[in-house]
Amino acid sequence: MEFANKHVHQIVRYFGQSFSRHVNNLKLHISCCCLCGNPCQQHPLLCQYCQADLPYFDHQRVPYDLLLWPAIAKIIPINRFDHLLAIAPYVWPFDTWIGQLKYQHKTELAALLSYLLIIHWRQYLEIENVNLTSENTMILAVPLHIKKWQERGFNQAHLIARKFAQHFNYNYQTNIIVRDKLTENQVGKSGAERRKNLKNAFSIQFNTQFPMPTQVVLIDDVVTTGTTANEICRLLKKKGVQNITLLSLCLALPGKS
Ligand SMILES: [Zn+2]
Repeated sequence: MEFANKHVHQIVRYFGQSFSRHVNNLKLHISCCCLCGNPCQQHPLLCQYCQADLPYFDHQRVPYDLLLWPAIAKIIPINRFDHLLAIAPYVWPFDTWIGQLKYQHKTELAALLSYLLIIHWRQYLEIENVNLTSENTMILAVPLHIKKWQERGFNQAHLIARKFAQHFNYNYQTNIIVRDKLTENQVGKSGAERRKNLKNAFSIQFNTQFPMPTQVVLIDDVVTTGTTANEICRLLKKKGVQNITLLSLCLALPGKS
């Protein structure tokens, strides 16, 4: 009887493994690029050819730290952050992906966007020889007001930041920046109106469990005028953070979106 049981277990185990192998093979075959439909190898949603062909900033011409690019001063007149990085201008397909993530709840796109952000960040650290390690750096994401979070069900910047931090083993904290005020949409507002709209919108809560780091990487999906990031960075600097990198998927350039 014991002999029979042992064989039954082996057979079940064999078919179990065989079944999961089949499922994994099937997954590889059904992974097709969300842009061209061809099979994917490196990421389940994007083939290597479309990935290579994305409209990245050309870092042969433009510095990785976009604050060093003179044209940026006109778009973002006040910068309380020390560095600004973005993968690409806010154009297709990034604008479509970010819209689908936020408004059509295609949360699988957060994995794709954080994958691209990870590649960009790794290149930046290597090429610019930047020393932002898991010991000295804290990752924060631009928060949504709790009411908006409940309506949408998630914060896209949080989804992206969490995967990004996990990959590099960075300390990621979600409760440090608190969005106290439900602000009006910033679209169409002047610089002064945007700043007024964001007055007292955020507070910063470092505590003994999560003491203030010297370096912060603040993650957002799109930087337009930088007003929101400026306000958060103003408060972080007031608390004593020395160095802030604003890391965004896209930078909305005037006339490009
Ligand atoms: Zn493709």
